[in-house]
Amino acid sequence: VAQERGEFEIIARYFRPLTEGRAGALGLADDGALIAPAAGHALVATTDTLIAGVHFPGGTPPELIARKLLRVNLSDLAAMGATPAAYLLSVALPKPLNEPWLAKFCEGLREDQERFKLALIGGDTVATAGPAVFTVTALGEVPEGQALLRSGAKAGDAIFVSGTIGDGALGLRVMRGEFPDLAPQLRNFLLSRYHLPQPRVTLGMALRGIAHAAIDISDGFAADLAHICETSHVGAIVEWTRMPLSEAAEQILALDPDARKSVLAGGDDYELLFTAESGSADAIQAAAQKCGVPVTMIGRIDRGSGVLVKDVDGTAMVLDSFGYQHF
Ligand code: ADP
Ligand code: MG
Repeated sequence: VAQERGEFEIIARYFRPLTEGRAGALGLADDGALIAPAAGHALVATTDTLIAGVHFPGGTPPELIARKLLRVNLSDLAAMGATPAAYLLSVALPKPLNEPWLAKFCEGLREDQERFKLALIGGDTVATAGPAVFTVTALGEVPEGQALLRSGAKAGDAIFVSGTIGDGALGLRVMRGEFPDLAPQLRNFLLSRYHLPQPRVTLGMALRGIAHAAIDISDGFAADLAHICETSHVGAIVEWTRMPLSEAAEQILALDPDARKSVLAGGDDYELLFTAESGSADAIQAAAQKCGVPVTMIGRIDRGSGVLVKDVDGTAMVLDSFGYQHF
């Protein structure tokens, strides 16, 4: 018989086990958690929210929602060059509570907190009459003065990206039923790129002291590069022919050149976009190899402003939509 559980029972039953080994969490039985960065380190804090119906469709497996929630936050830590340490979780859940659903959600959290080596230390649990809302606040550590900022790009820097670009946005289009002729394994590849980002945590840590500026690609490649340009007061020139694309993206583009817009303006890639002296290219490739993530040089920073993407023939590509905006 399904029995209504109070908030404290839910916390003790589902969330406390995720604090294992973390004395500072105080068993989720106090008003707050205790956390201190290692000597000489700064604490990095970042937060992201996923809303049912906005950021994922109803019926999405709870483990996937949990893992994406953690991973989008880990991607922000990676873009700061931080080592993951802990996270807080706020959940607003519709009534009546679906306990099997919550149990699976927590299994997803457990899997990825073990993979990325961080633990739960606090949060909030409320019921809502609206859609489910999930917020994670992730905390990481970075040696003082070594955080990767958006503001450090300099004219003459080379621009690099990790992984392949555009898969997240194309995966969302596959989910919506587009590209039905694409081979099933390529469709599944794009779907998994959308559902389960790979936060580049070890690469971000390895780029401390090497990268001048960094951001993770969440809004869209062009929009996120524009963020670096604005914050650093520089311009960027990118060569389309250098953009690293997956086999799935290549096949889509061969049939539908218009999908280039999804690659440049679509979001949800959660790859790292960063700048560094071109002389650092070898050190960057060595770091990339160690982390098992490909890194590609795609352009350079200049004294101008804004983002210019050059087409195969050298002309400027026109982007009518620059990325996802909530308002
Ligand atoms: P308060 O009434 O002071 O807001 P709560 O009852 O919300 O306290 O929370 C009690 C404890 O449980 C706190 O330490 C809080 O961080 C923790 N907690 C509540 N919800 C969650 C959750 N979803 N995940 C992790 N910890 C939680
Ligand atoms: Mg509370």
